[in-house]
Amino acid sequence: MLYRQYEYQAYIRALKRGRQRGNKKTSWLLLLLATLTAVYFGLHLRPVSSCISYDPPGSEINLPDTPNRNPQTNIEASGQPEPIPPPCQQARTVHPGARDPWAQDFGASMETQTVRVAAGDTLALILRRSGIEHREAYKVVQALKTVFEPARLREGHELKLDFISSGACPPVFQGLRLELGPREEIQLVKGVAGGFFARRASRELATRHQHVTATVQASLYQAAHQTDMPMDVLMQILRAYSYDVDFQRDIQPGDRIEVLYEEKVDGDGEFVKAGEVLYATLHTCGRKLQVYRFKTADDCISRLFDSQGRSVQKALMLTPVDGARLSSGYGMRKHPILGYNKMHRGLDFAAPMGTPIMAAGDGIVEYAGPRGTYGHYIRIRHPNMYQTVYAHLSRYADNIKKGVRVKQGEAIGYIGSTGRSTGPHLHFEVRHGGTAVNPATVRTPPGRELSGKELERFLLAKTRLETLYASLSKDDKKLAQAENNLSDTGIAHQ
Ligand SMILES: [Zn+2]
Repeated sequence: MLYRQYEYQAYIRALKRGRQRGNKKTSWLLLLLATLTAVYFGLHLRPVSSCISYDPPGSEINLPDTPNRNPQTNIEASGQPEPIPPPCQQARTVHPGARDPWAQDFGASMETQTVRVAAGDTLALILRRSGIEHREAYKVVQALKTVFEPARLREGHELKLDFISSGACPPVFQGLRLELGPREEIQLVKGVAGGFFARRASRELATRHQHVTATVQASLYQAAHQTDMPMDVLMQILRAYSYDVDFQRDIQPGDRIEVLYEEKVDGDGEFVKAGEVLYATLHTCGRKLQVYRFKTADDCISRLFDSQGRSVQKALMLTPVDGARLSSGYGMRKHPILGYNKMHRGLDFAAPMGTPIMAAGDGIVEYAGPRGTYGHYIRIRHPNMYQTVYAHLSRYADNIKKGVRVKQGEAIGYIGSTGRSTGPHLHFEVRHGGTAVNPATVRTPPGRELSGKELERFLLAKTRLETLYASLSKDDKKLAQAENNLSDTGIAHQ
């Protein structure tokens, strides 16, 4: 009993310490205890047939804190907490010739298994799959029920199962954590007597700045994938540049994107989710397109602006489908079905069936319904005599019908292949004064332009972001440049 208490306390301490180096004193006391146990069993119970914790140590005992002797017990190398003598519940045979049993048996370590809940999973099923025996799994479920209804477990939830494992013994389940959201989690720990206790705890998130540079080989999408850039950040980038850049035509191999963004991390410094893009530079076609996040004082909305203080968000989006591939541009082309050359008055974006289509700008739905070769079709009227057309939809979003007011970025329908179409894609047109124009070259009015005091504040914020990026990416040339810009104001970045 005393031994189990000790073990449990040591475990709790190990949990609290996380990656820190452990308490030497505890370690020595545990060692002493373990040695006594081992010697006792060695003298009285050999050969073994029932559960035995430790083999008798050989004549040359190397203590486990000898550096690098066993990677499992090396705290610095593995990042694991102190070795803890585990209760081994499996009968094992001692081979007389086996050398150095400590290396195998003393190498106890904490292991965390991360399980993502799949469709049809139940908590009991997951626990059983992770090797937790039936009775233990039942106790876990009962304990969790005091703070969380296991039936509420959803596909995509993440469970972290903690085990203590040691040598040949099967890992012993110690508790779990269930992330309920970015800010909340359920914690379950094993008590001294073997019972489980659960509680709800809030995850405290800290913000960290992160930077990434990606060079295009094929597409921006692929370039981002080869780095650590989270998907969320890539989407923000695509959205920010979608007003000015035709990703299919403008982006060339060798183009480069630099991004500074925020990420939210938990108490262990582990990534939880991506935050906002603060700054980005896209080097493409000899152009350098920069965006900076800035919160305007009058409405407290944070938006991305270009280097001149103009909101990157324009009246019309160039790409009304996220992550789509431009499969056909504007202009003359050989028609894929009709076979002869025909003017293509829009852009075709190939995307998987059912991908949401966004309203390219604020406006009023003028038409929503089937329309000949266009298939399911939506037309929106925007200010300044602009109209946008969306064709070949599989279906319309709820409430989309004639006369309805829509906001830019709102889902209006879903990718399909209705009408004259060879596969799932969106046919997108922009019309000005009733005539089709090339969406890639249309210059619609900017969303917002900063001036006066607000522009001054923006220019300062812009320099701060450049300095922050340069210091993170250790770009001395840029840092010197940015600091030069700051020298007059005497303000350091936040
Ligand atoms: Zn088309």
